[in-house]
Amino acid sequence: MAKQQESTAKKDFIREIVAADILAGRHKTTVTRFPPEPNGYLHIGHAKSICLNFGIAQENQDSGARCHLRFDDTNPAKEESEYVEAIKDDIRWLGFDWKDHLYFASDYFDQLYNWALHLIGEGKAYVDDLSAVEIREYRGGLTEPGKESPYRDRSIEENLSLFEGMKNGEFDDGIKVLRAKIDMAHANLNMRDPVLYRILHKKHHRTGDQWCIYPTYDYAHGQSDAIEGVTHSLCTLEFEHHRPLYDWLVGNLPVPARPRQIEFAKLRPTYFLMSKRRLLEMVNEGHVDGWDDPRMATLSGLRRRGYPPSAIRKLCKTVGVTKFNSVTDVALLEHAVREELNKTAMRRMVVIDPIKVTITNWPGGDHVEMMNAVNNPEDTGAGSREVALSGEVFIERTDFMEDPPKKYFRLSPGAEVRLRYSYCIRCNEVIKNEDGKVIELRCTYDPETLGKNPPDRKVRGAIHWVSCREAFEADVRLYDRAFIVEDPAAEDDWREAINPHALTELRGCKMEPVLKDVLAGECFQFERTGYFCVDSKHSAPGKPLFNRTVALRDSWAKNQSK
Ligand code: ATP
Ligand code: MG
Repeated sequence: MAKQQESTAKKDFIREIVAADILAGRHKTTVTRFPPEPNGYLHIGHAKSICLNFGIAQENQDSGARCHLRFDDTNPAKEESEYVEAIKDDIRWLGFDWKDHLYFASDYFDQLYNWALHLIGEGKAYVDDLSAVEIREYRGGLTEPGKESPYRDRSIEENLSLFEGMKNGEFDDGIKVLRAKIDMAHANLNMRDPVLYRILHKKHHRTGDQWCIYPTYDYAHGQSDAIEGVTHSLCTLEFEHHRPLYDWLVGNLPVPARPRQIEFAKLRPTYFLMSKRRLLEMVNEGHVDGWDDPRMATLSGLRRRGYPPSAIRKLCKTVGVTKFNSVTDVALLEHAVREELNKTAMRRMVVIDPIKVTITNWPGGDHVEMMNAVNNPEDTGAGSREVALSGEVFIERTDFMEDPPKKYFRLSPGAEVRLRYSYCIRCNEVIKNEDGKVIELRCTYDPETLGKNPPDRKVRGAIHWVSCREAFEADVRLYDRAFIVEDPAAEDDWREAINPHALTELRGCKMEPVLKDVLAGECFQFERTGYFCVDSKHSAPGKPLFNRTVALRDSWAKNQSK
């Protein structure tokens, strides 16, 4: 469950409406729903809708409020049960629970069919033989009225018999549709005799071959809401112009309830590609390694990358619920991720790109001393651990400079630096290979500096390290933003905006031995480097693969301007 404190913010306009309805006793119980179409995995945008719908139910559970999970599975062409299961996993992971309120729009196919017969019987729906192209042409535009179809005035009997024929498979795909008979001159194009049913000879993931006609979103959605007793049907702004049709349908059908549609603005974080169609292309064209690739905007991708669900909930709360379309700086999400992991992630020392340091005055080859390292300074309950120091350690290549600028507080010839949680060392000699690459630093340590500064001089820098003998090697994947532009969807071709450096694979990084026995999904802070998470797909017992969740600081803006 999402934590209580996350839900006690100032009310947004939808929560105000819900609260007013409860106060006025307008409904017996408040019912919301999250209605994903199982045609892909959920993305971070969906999280906003989940947090809103399930959040409202949670906050009002004292008065019996609930939130349904309803799969909007009315289009068999693109839907699969794999997606159904993945969507359930993602909602649970985000911290929400539909309890026993799991529904499928396809469960209502019989009812929806009968209500279509009702509309025909009332003279409010007809079977049309125009093709999809013709229907579009006849529809008119914003400034010109539409034209009535020549089939619009078929008799009720003829319509009933043709619609039954459609249902019984007498016609091929696209030959006929069922349309509502509203007004071809209506100012709102959605009211110009919208299509309610189309023919599609395609197997459905739940109803199999039972149906060859399928209801459109507009027809199925509001009626499904009504069947379930949904009181507040929350959707994104692009459905605003569908609301008159939503109301027309529930108003003209003998439905058991009158749900109310309310629209809100989408969540659109920068540097993400979000539409399921595009995400599917990324997968199918092999730009990524599946829907749960850590570069994807999917919840399963973000999970694999190590984003905590609380950070995603936090982002949704920070962004709020309004009627204004806007984009959200992804840095806000990354900030929430860092804030959360800073509180929870254990600190570990890992050297990504090593140089060997030999401590020449270390007492004997086998001598080992155990250093006490704090697990998480933000969490006193996290305790500490012992880290072995020997006469040979690895340090990060970037923590040494042969010719340093002023105020460089790391290691350089003649300079001193502290090995974190341990002694200070001084670099006396730099050893290079034939190509001039530094391969070893020969240093001395000062035994008087354990846990205290030398009395006569200042050592400002402290760097991380791993003892060579104790180190174990594991692979690391450095992930970065998947795209190099803020809005890849606005490009002519999003493929051109792919960040070629979104994934860097590093082999054999030197790690503290405690990192050998870790569980998939566990998150750590590699000191001074970033937050990392044990990959759930490519890790094996004793052989973890670490994904970088996010760097310690936001270096993106700086790197971009370089
Ligand atoms: P996409 O267009 O990204 O493929 P969709 O809207 O087609 O997504 P659905 O499965 O129909 O996906 O969405 C389920 C619910 O999530 C809907 O109520 C929809 O309005 C909502 N939703 C989708 N994208 C966002 C978003 N970016 N922000 C907030 N809610 C969203
Ligand atoms: Mg959709």
